Amino acid sequence: MTLAAYTPRSLPESLAGLISLALDLRWSWHHGGDVLWRALDAETWDSTHNAWLVLNSVSAERMAELAEDPGFLRHYQEQVRAHDAFIHAETWYSKSCPGSLKSGVAYFCMEYGLSECLPLYSGGLGVLAGDFLKASSDLGVPVIAVGLLYQQGYFRQAINTEGDQLEFYPYNDPTMLPVSPLAGEDGQWLRITVPFPGRDIRLRAWKAQVGRCQLLLLDSNDPRNEPGDRGITSELYNGDPEKRLQQEMVLGIGGWRLLRQLNIEPTICHLNEGHCAFALIERALSWQIDHQTDFETARTANRPTNLFTTHTSVAAGFDVFTDSLIKLYVEPWLRGSQLTPERLLQLGKQNGSSAEATGNGPLNMAWLALNMSGRVNGVSRIHQEVTKAILQPFFPRWPADDIPAGYVTNGIHTPSWDSPESDAIWTRACGKDRWRRPLLHTCPMADIPDADLWAMRLAQRTRLIHYLRKRLASQHCRQDTVHGAVKDQAAACGLLLDNETLTLGFARRFTDYKRPDLLLKHEERLVRMLDNRDRPLQIVLAGKAHPYDERGKQLIKRWKQFSRRPEAQGKVIFVEDYDLGIATQLVQGVDVWLNCPRHPWEACGTSGMKVLVNGGLNLSQHDGWWAEAWSSDVGWAIRPGASFDELENSDRYDEDDALELYEILEHEVIPEFYQADQDGLPRAWLKRIRASMDQLTAAYSANRMVREYIDAFYLPMVALGQQRTPEVAAGLVREYWEIDQHWPKLRFRAVNMDESEGMQTYTVDVYLDGVAEHRIGVELVAEESEYGPRTVTEMAMKYALSGSSHGFVYQCAVPARPEGHYTPRLRLKDQRLSLPMENPSIAWLN
Ligand SMILES: *Cc1c(COP(=O)(O)O)cnc(C)c1O
Repeated sequence: MTLAAYTPRSLPESLAGLISLALDLRWSWHHGGDVLWRALDAETWDSTHNAWLVLNSVSAERMAELAEDPGFLRHYQEQVRAHDAFIHAETWYSKSCPGSLKSGVAYFCMEYGLSECLPLYSGGLGVLAGDFLKASSDLGVPVIAVGLLYQQGYFRQAINTEGDQLEFYPYNDPTMLPVSPLAGEDGQWLRITVPFPGRDIRLRAWKAQVGRCQLLLLDSNDPRNEPGDRGITSELYNGDPEKRLQQEMVLGIGGWRLLRQLNIEPTICHLNEGHCAFALIERALSWQIDHQTDFETARTANRPTNLFTTHTSVAAGFDVFTDSLIKLYVEPWLRGSQLTPERLLQLGKQNGSSAEATGNGPLNMAWLALNMSGRVNGVSRIHQEVTKAILQPFFPRWPADDIPAGYVTNGIHTPSWDSPESDAIWTRACGKDRWRRPLLHTCPMADIPDADLWAMRLAQRTRLIHYLRKRLASQHCRQDTVHGAVKDQAAACGLLLDNETLTLGFARRFTDYKRPDLLLKHEERLVRMLDNRDRPLQIVLAGKAHPYDERGKQLIKRWKQFSRRPEAQGKVIFVEDYDLGIATQLVQGVDVWLNCPRHPWEACGTSGMKVLVNGGLNLSQHDGWWAEAWSSDVGWAIRPGASFDELENSDRYDEDDALELYEILEHEVIPEFYQADQDGLPRAWLKRIRASMDQLTAAYSANRMVREYIDAFYLPMVALGQQRTPEVAAGLVREYWEIDQHWPKLRFRAVNMDESEGMQTYTVDVYLDGVAEHRIGVELVAEESEYGPRTVTEMAMKYALSGSSHGFVYQCAVPARPEGHYTPRLRLKDQRLSLPMENPSIAWLN
């Protein structure tokens, strides 16, 4: 379609500012403008939360009327002024470290969850990317994000009367989405192309404004593309590997080309998962052209400023493409460049840096990302360990402890998840704007009286139930009518759930490892809790199963069937089509959020963080973020002591977890919730809410997460990257090519140990085969044992052996341990490199 079709409607002069207000997704978390959107079209606003759609659905007559309405004009002008002030305000970044990220950060991700009206996400990864972007806006961090504009996105879910999941792919008309087309200087679409076999794919580009940040979105639905190619950006995760490769090429290659066309030269390139690794290749290729170098120099020059964040918990979770598919697809792209398809395939292997790598066999997107990045991180403390284990093949002969995977625990964008009630309480406790600056200390939530906290909880729960009754009038009650059980829909829905009852929430992807059926292991025990007259429990569930995940679909069916049992009717509710809108309602209203993934499969988990600000409590597996956050005064953990080893018997493991879950509910959660004093207040529960809000809300916010990425990753990466001039990079390539030739010959020739007074002095004689000794680190390693913790001690070079060619003597003294506990090793040592990422060469005394 021509760009003219997407030109915004003309508005009365006096209301022209509505366009930029409506196109800034800030309205998805900042509610100052709600009154405007509601005045324009309350019904559309309430049902879609899409200000752009609201603006475009108002008739010209109504618009003219509003342009004369003093009340509306006053609100409008206030909002325009406020938005202006927001754009120009000082921010945390502009005050505390302005300019330190140079030209900023490009953030690549396959999906973004910003609002339910921009359905470009499937779950946790996308919501995290959306929250990252919103928090970057709050802090004023120069981030520009790149993604795909899916015409259909992830499937929409309905569930039939049998409990089977039905999948729908409604078309998202881009004119209805809060995005605007990106035009070139000629006023027509920006022209981005990606070469494919026998054709060039034409891409259109869109912009979503996210406060101070932008999300650029590519789509291939240009009528001049072949029909199949127009559909590259239609569905998210549709399962076809070739389509997937096409999408990843469009995102990575097209994404980087788009930035170039806009003259954006980001200093940092941050990959949120390996799907977008082609961006790093395209970055190196374009740098190579600019600087007239070879590809390896370009790769070396850019590597320190590329960051790879992985959210994967099993090696099988990484995308892998066959070499025949890769060769077919990358050949047209790489034609004329110095990078051959064979070399690209090498870089997609665990030993891609070494001479042993071949140009055959599949390409793994995670290895490609690693071979192109200077740093890598997981997304929780536990996930850091898991990541080290997964990355082990990339670092042959390195102990897991020394594998350079860092971690930044995920966080959520607090202002997107709080309720009006909790917002009011927090404003009382710590003032306005609290989420936009670092919250270092806990807020004085202690000053908020118990009665007010409890009133907040009741109001939130009541609002959730009201929402569910309305929503389910078209779902649950309708179905019962079909079955002839209940005639009157309104009455049926009026009986759903109860405002005073302890409400448990469980919502996430329905897939085996998340164990959504854990609570159903002993159905009768659950029924007794639901059916308890004095201290009842009610449960709200939601979640989609991937279209190919039969097991996940069965789990949904199981819950649907369970919810039909007479004892569960009106007390167990499954809400269809889980999305950001439903998530927002659930995390505000539920008392307890349940998460019970099978350890250690949950990389981090974020949904439980969303209840913190609202005074909801977590009952969760001791895994992911909860393993860091949990203490007995803030919530409940399922089996904190359990270890990985038990995984070998997963049935037994599941059973033990289920039993503990029932115990916690029956003996701790339910009694504490209903244990009210003479004022009707459950004091112990309220104390727990206060502790959870105080201790965890700021710590698990995206605000904290973004600042941690800056301090621990971006800033050191910028510093290292700055030293990597084209000359330095070329020198490094030459020098390390040499070192790699010598490396197989480096060895230990003799080791001696003297012991006295509890100390051992190790002396080693090493042969360096011509490698400069200042490039070599000799270390003495002892693993943890009964004799002490793990230690890595740098040995000092004493002298060169005169009688030998390139032999050196190194020495160090360490506390005595039995023979065989200390082992010397050789590795590279170079301040100019990120090691061992950039060169994992290592040699042990054998
Ligand atoms: C937060 C969120 C998720 C992630 O939930 P997890 O518990 O981390 O799996 C998934 N989907 C939606 C809609 C969310 O809001």
